Amino acid sequence: MLKNKDLLGLKNVPKEEIQLILEVADEMKKIVRSPHKKSPYFVGKSMATLFYENSTRTKSSFEFACSYMGGVFSSLNVATSSVNKGESILDTLKTIDSFGTDVIVIRHSMSGVPHVYAPHVKAHVINAGDGTNEHPTQALLDMLTLKQNFDSFDGLQVAILGDIKHSRVARSNIWGLSKMGATIKIFGPETLLPTGIEKMPNVKMCKSVKEAVKGADAVMGLRLQLERMTKGLIPSMGEFNKKFGVDEDMLSLANKNAILLHPGPVNRNVELSYDVVDCNQSAINEQVTNGVAVRMAVMYLLTRDNKIRSEI
Ligand code: ASP
Repeated sequence: MLKNKDLLGLKNVPKEEIQLILEVADEMKKIVRSPHKKSPYFVGKSMATLFYENSTRTKSSFEFACSYMGGVFSSLNVATSSVNKGESILDTLKTIDSFGTDVIVIRHSMSGVPHVYAPHVKAHVINAGDGTNEHPTQALLDMLTLKQNFDSFDGLQVAILGDIKHSRVARSNIWGLSKMGATIKIFGPETLLPTGIEKMPNVKMCKSVKEAVKGADAVMGLRLQLERMTKGLIPSMGEFNKKFGVDEDMLSLANKNAILLHPGPVNRNVELSYDVVDCNQSAINEQVTNGVAVRMAVMYLLTRDNKIRSEI
């Protein structure tokens, strides 16, 4: 059903596959919202998560996605696993693969780790975030949220603000949204803009938060990825908030029906003001719900042979 065995990023996923995932996710969301939350789409199948980095939303939503589709899962606690006895990533993955796992979800602080190891296992590998590179299911859930709020991606303007350099979320969104026909308006501190960002497809570089937000249909704040940052890239959190933060006044410059997005975790009063997180335009909680639906869709589509959506 999907061309590749694994979902490692959106850079190489064609538009038609993104559309298919979003359509299936729309259906899956009905299950997430239903009172019984039961479906047969992963019955007899198993998933394992292997997170070398912290997570709240991504890891739990994969677990819920698996359960809502009738599958079984195991989440390896890396901190108490044999990783601490020196076991390599490859040996750990091969061990998980040998349990008969159908899907392995991996997160690692180093860019490229899932790409290097996916060919060595039979299971379908889903990249749940590799360093600063990609976080495909996050961008898919962001796109699902946009799809549910707007008629079409064509001509949609999405402002992405803050620490672009260290954000795998920004990169996956740029790859995905540009394929769907949206424009991505970028603004952040010069020290937190990666080289070459301006050459990515459909990217428009902005000179201020105001310029990026004005006329945008969606405004996405990003967390400062302090865990990936060498010190001294920003003067202070307070200064960052003054120059790069979004509050309700700033959001009011966006289009009337604009939505506020954030992948979480939010640092209130840093990238977003305390109140704007919970304002009417905020879709942050909806993004979390959509995260379960998107992960259900991806797991379902990766493990189908050639059965078609009419099964749903
Ligand atoms: N949860 C997202 C990620 O893992 C964003 C973040 O951590 O700031 O990339």
